[in-house]
Amino acid sequence: MDGLLIGPATRRQALFASVCAFAILLTLALAAPRARDALPGIAPFMPMCALTVFTTSSIAAFLLGARFAATRVAMLAALGGAYAFTAITVALQLLMFPGVFARTGLLGALPNSAAWMWVFWHAGFPALVIVAELVRKRLPAPPFARERLDARGWLLIAGPAAVAALLGVLVTHVDLASPFRDVADAAPAPASAIANNLAGLVICALNLIAIALVLLKGRLRLVLDLWIVVALLASFVDAALNTLSIERFTVGWYVARVFSMFAPGVLVCVLVWEVTALYRQLAEEHATLIRASARDALTRVYNRSYFDEQFREAFERAARTGQPLSLVMLDVDHFKHYNDAFGHLHGDACLGAVAGALAATLASTLHTPGGFVARYGGEEFALVLPDTGADEAAAVAERARAAVEQLGIPSPAAGGLVTVSAGCATRDAIVASSPNALIEAADAALYAAKHAGRNRVSHAGASIA
Ligand code: GH3
Ligand code: MG
Ligand code: MG
Repeated sequence: MDGLLIGPATRRQALFASVCAFAILLTLALAAPRARDALPGIAPFMPMCALTVFTTSSIAAFLLGARFAATRVAMLAALGGAYAFTAITVALQLLMFPGVFARTGLLGALPNSAAWMWVFWHAGFPALVIVAELVRKRLPAPPFARERLDARGWLLIAGPAAVAALLGVLVTHVDLASPFRDVADAAPAPASAIANNLAGLVICALNLIAIALVLLKGRLRLVLDLWIVVALLASFVDAALNTLSIERFTVGWYVARVFSMFAPGVLVCVLVWEVTALYRQLAEEHATLIRASARDALTRVYNRSYFDEQFREAFERAARTGQPLSLVMLDVDHFKHYNDAFGHLHGDACLGAVAGALAATLASTLHTPGGFVARYGGEEFALVLPDTGADEAAAVAERARAAVEQLGIPSPAAGGLVTVSAGCATRDAIVASSPNALIEAADAALYAAKHAGRNRVSHAGASIA
């Protein structure tokens, strides 16, 4: 399906993703020269960002896992794993960060634990996207080995989450040296800051390799490719600005954190947008299906099941409100002769024309909403006329009869034209205790019209035409 996550991207989506990518790179170009400029310190900014990244990454992992369960596309599970890894590492980094929950950090954090979790978080995401690109064609789609695929798919999500937790254990038990050199003492020129931050450089390189791999393998054909590249670009800019300035509360530091939130956020937006679009599509198709299921396939007027349901409701409404309700039953005269003379295909076309004339009559004469024409069965039709008294119903029936005659369809019957006979019954004028009683009364009137010579209207009780 076009426009869906693992479907071909539409032009508009490609354009929108390109604008996002351009805006990300423009922000890098603007922020990079001022990366080390100090800004006022906002202490809650870092925990707020980390919490946002944790929440959006968890949602992205959950939605991608759910999408994997529905489609069995292994790459979705692998990407879910990348976001699950991000969620766990950022949560551990936040808990271990000195001064957030405790002065030296929670979970027995060592001095460099939080810094290493930051490195794992930022290196893990592009590395796992690379894994996702590598499994892209490896794990086949069903019907091949579905159980084994399921197990491997869930492992692609749970595995990275478990590795993230193990890395948390590692950094709290092994006293690692700082992943960053102390750039505060280094010359402030960006070039030397980069040289001092090898971890940042490795992360930037991983992001660029991941982008290259997505471009190479997917060629931006899928919606997913577009937005993964945008997420990786955000992740690259995040790492690049951190590499230029690891000092807190600088321009580079603030902008990098914004992009930390953007990388998982963009995919969540795309996934939620897709669910909304699918919901809208489903609602429209459901409505179309309901409309189609109420119509008779041959004549396009309402069908018998719609008549049964709506006529019963109209009857109950009339009984409740005391308003009149009329029913006109119409039957094509000598239709068997018509079929015998011209064949069933012409007979079908004739029924379509008769139904059209009845619908046009109703549309031009009915003043109350809720009235309708239905094909009752074979060559019999019903006009349901709510809030319509006996005289008015007889007048509508007469107009319908005349409309069919005026179609001028030649017939082998006596009059030379296709005609209908009609029987009317009104809930006011006769004692009808149930919808069926009213149908029987209209039917009886119809047979009276037939006996009286056809091509006429008869009312329950007296013939009026
Ligand atoms: P009357 O005036 O007494 O109603 O005579 P009639 O010939 O119309 O009545 P009868 O009930 O004997 O025949 C009805 C015919 O309608 C028989 C059947 O083949 C035809 N018919 C019913 N449904 C269709 C349909 O969907 N298409 C076509 N072509 N004919 C149909
Ligand atoms: Mg007939
Ligand atoms: Mg009949």
